[in-house]
Amino acid sequence: MSENERIDFEKMSRFQFDRAAEAMALEPETRVLLKMPFREIQVKIPVRMDDGHLEVFVGYRVQHNNARGPMKGGIRYHSEVDLGEVRSLAALMTWKTAVVNIPFGGAKGGIVCDPKRLSPAETERMTRTFISMLDTVIGPYQDIPAPDVNTNPQMMAWIMDEYSRRHGYSPGVVTGKPIDVGGSKGREEATGRGCVFVLQEAARDCNLDLGKARVAIQGIGNVGSHVARFMSELGGRVIAISDSHGGIHNPDGLPIDRVLAYKTEKRSLSGFPGSRSVTNEALLELDCDILVPSALGGVIHKYNADRIKARVIAEAANNPTTTTADEILEKKGVVVIPDILANAGGVTVSYFEWTQNLQQFSWEEERVNDELRKIMARSYHQVASTAQKKKVSLRVAAYIVAIEKVARATRLRGI
Ligand code: NAD
Repeated sequence: MSENERIDFEKMSRFQFDRAAEAMALEPETRVLLKMPFREIQVKIPVRMDDGHLEVFVGYRVQHNNARGPMKGGIRYHSEVDLGEVRSLAALMTWKTAVVNIPFGGAKGGIVCDPKRLSPAETERMTRTFISMLDTVIGPYQDIPAPDVNTNPQMMAWIMDEYSRRHGYSPGVVTGKPIDVGGSKGREEATGRGCVFVLQEAARDCNLDLGKARVAIQGIGNVGSHVARFMSELGGRVIAISDSHGGIHNPDGLPIDRVLAYKTEKRSLSGFPGSRSVTNEALLELDCDILVPSALGGVIHKYNADRIKARVIAEAANNPTTTTADEILEKKGVVVIPDILANAGGVTVSYFEWTQNLQQFSWEEERVNDELRKIMARSYHQVASTAQKKKVSLRVAAYIVAIEKVARATRLRGI
């Protein structure tokens, strides 16, 4: 995209909702109810920096819908966080929790900041102050945050602690925590693992042998690194992977364990032996079978969609494909597994974490992964059969499945 062309994520969300609502002939009253967010919060977060000066950050929490249960959604730290995008991501969470049929609604939060410039102590003060400001509107039965871009289990532990100081021990207020403070086994890997479970089901429908597939992955954070690991465990060839500075490419496949160790040691992918460097833009257009965007939104757009060569795109990131790109890809016959399905493994294991917290009982990892596989496979097949029946794309079908569930709950509870 050009420098000054910003993607309107809110418009994208509205378009996706409207297209599905139209296909299912949803009544106008319910459309209004389901589209509008329940509550939006903007706060200023004053933080005393390590050198003594004061900085004021802006934080958002958008709570989209709670018809099916407490609202659920991550918190993102990024310099480009804005209210429109948070709104769009909050709605996405409502549809995502409904697609996989877990008893949550949708929310999302973020702080406008450059996390790389903050020391751990500054990050902790910023996180705690933000949570103290959301104190009355989050909670285990109200709204449950989780990690997202640039937030991690340590920050979730601070969130749990800050909320618990005021309300008593409350591990269920946040998910994605370290295991020592009530996190679930398998949560860290869950989004990547869930994405690969869905890919395994989709591959059968597309006659694609995952054991031979060439995979390009944009992003090597929580989600991308685990997709890479699980795909290569299945025998797939990960031919490219990237971080925010760019990526590495080897058409014969990259040794993922060594790549991950290299990235941890050097904090960069650049110069990985036996690879050539590739920009994040070029990575998306590589000759491959499966493309897995696992970083930021809006990376597949009207200017590059036509040049995508992958047969299947698994949207591990949220909102990676703009609506215009979506149409282009559909015409080209590319199978796009939409974000609200492809990356729902994270929130699914967050749900397991929450239930374990409420029961003060912990599951073995095998149980977590088995239950996750069942949910991801069942959800994929429900979406795929809806797509077939209604002759629509997987994205429209996923929205139809989700909107039907939220609309039913809304009607049953009474408007
Ligand atoms: P992360 O912070 O762990 O990793 C983000 C990755 O993206 C890093 O490798 C970073 O270097 C890369 N990146 C940042 N800016 C980039 C740019 N401009 N171009 C290319 N790469 C860039 O975040 P994550 O938790 O892995 O989340 C990645 C995506 O997955 C996000 O869209 C997030 O909303 C989505 N997601 C995450 C989860 C989860 O459980 N963490 C669940 C569902 C969806």
